Amino acid sequence: MTKPLLEEVPSSALAIYAHPDDPAISCGGTLARWADEGCRVDVVVCAAGDKGSADPQTDPEALALVRVGEAERSGTLLGARRVHFLDHLDGELDNDSVLRGELVAIIRELTPEAIVCPDPLAVFFGEHHYNHRDHRIVGWAALDAAAPAAASPLYFRGVGTVHQVRAAYLSGSLEPSAWVDVSKTIERKIAAVACHASQLADGGDWIAGALREGAQIAGREAGVACAEPFRRVRLAP
Ligand SMILES: [Zn+2]
Repeated sequence: MTKPLLEEVPSSALAIYAHPDDPAISCGGTLARWADEGCRVDVVVCAAGDKGSADPQTDPEALALVRVGEAERSGTLLGARRVHFLDHLDGELDNDSVLRGELVAIIRELTPEAIVCPDPLAVFFGEHHYNHRDHRIVGWAALDAAAPAAASPLYFRGVGTVHQVRAAYLSGSLEPSAWVDVSKTIERKIAAVACHASQLADGGDWIAGALREGAQIAGREAGVACAEPFRRVRLAP
């Protein structure tokens, strides 16, 4: 049976991810398509990307600085209005009141109709890989910040005005329920991922091929050329 395509486009969306390259990799085709169709897109990057290197000689602060520039260029390609950096250290994120308070403040300030974030229940991918702790933490923190915290006046009192997010779209899900047609934006997604040169080494061509192939596999499920799948959670009508 063909999977359900998600045709509706939110008026505003906030993508909340751990590392600078996560938004482009996880949902870049969707963000670009929504931006093309008039959605106001913002991006939050929670961790600095300071440990994203296999070279022990790397200066973490210098790497984090490089990654800010990469994330801004990538966000611009995807049509994001702004990339907001929370500057936590890689591997040291916690779903605590500090992180949730920062996310609640941004949600209440930007009032997104939808959030996009990692599916925190996606842990084991096959026999050789499990999901990064930072991705799991940010998935839970984003969901917990959106509901009930951002919408409830007694949570984080004095931080902005309460706001009800209407839907959460969870990427990387093992149980997707909605597919977004990204046939027109898959190449822009690949270009946005390529902005993260500090993370690619010599693997740029391989990653471009893997991204295209992944989108084509998801596309076949939904009856289109290319797609990105999400678990969709409706938080309000
Ligand atoms: Zn990541």
